[in-house]
Amino acid sequence: ISQPAWLDVENFLSKTVVKADSALAEAVESAARAGMPPIEVAPTAGKFLMLLARISGAKRVLEIGTLAGYSTIWLARGIPADGTVISCEFLPEHAAVARQNVDRAGIGGKVEIRVGAALETLAELAELTESAGPFDLIFIDADKGNNVNYLRRALELSRPGTVVVVDNVVWEGAFLAPEASGDALAIRETLEFLGSSESFDATAIATANSKGWDGFAVAVVQ
Ligand code: SAM
Repeated sequence: ISQPAWLDVENFLSKTVVKADSALAEAVESAARAGMPPIEVAPTAGKFLMLLARISGAKRVLEIGTLAGYSTIWLARGIPADGTVISCEFLPEHAAVARQNVDRAGIGGKVEIRVGAALETLAELAELTESAGPFDLIFIDADKGNNVNYLRRALELSRPGTVVVVDNVVWEGAFLAPEASGDALAIRETLEFLGSSESFDATAIATANSKGWDGFAVAVVQ
């Protein structure tokens, strides 16, 4: 099937079942106005994250990679009023746009955005986890080269049953090329790590939508 057909299907699904509201549309538009790349999750994937939070009964959510807060809004909508999303973002300018977006969406009180290199933030969160408890859901969507590091850290911040989602694990199949390097190689290593680690039980779902041919991995901590 051609890419325009993917777009048409995504638009149809967005209108009929996802029903993203104006706060989500504004998050996407504000990112464009600020010159940020359009690399937020597709609406169907955002709603999936929200439902995953609801289905798993998550109260404490960790997100790695905030951008303009689009997926953050979805995640925060999937947790109860006394739940928390801690979202890690390297660039202060992205974090500032995201702050406005989560506040405008009315879920700002549930969201804490931590600015800095996520690996450093996660090291700090290890202490917090001792007092506040483990995370129930972790969404990894930042620099792909650190995916395996994030997954290792996720184990320290989680409990058996914690749900872990990793975005962009198909990326048009680029990771299959024998000469794969950079992010493509990192994706292959991510999948191999998830598949070989006894600490995770995982699958990966390929998707074709407004973000092209890509996919995400879903795992549960054993
Ligand atoms: N999850 C967002 C969504 O769907 O709306 C999209 C996140 S975007 C794909 C990746 C983000 O991760 C960018 O905003 C980027 O600045 C941030 N990032 C990249 N490397 C990072 C790092 N080492 N630590 C924290 N954030 C990082």
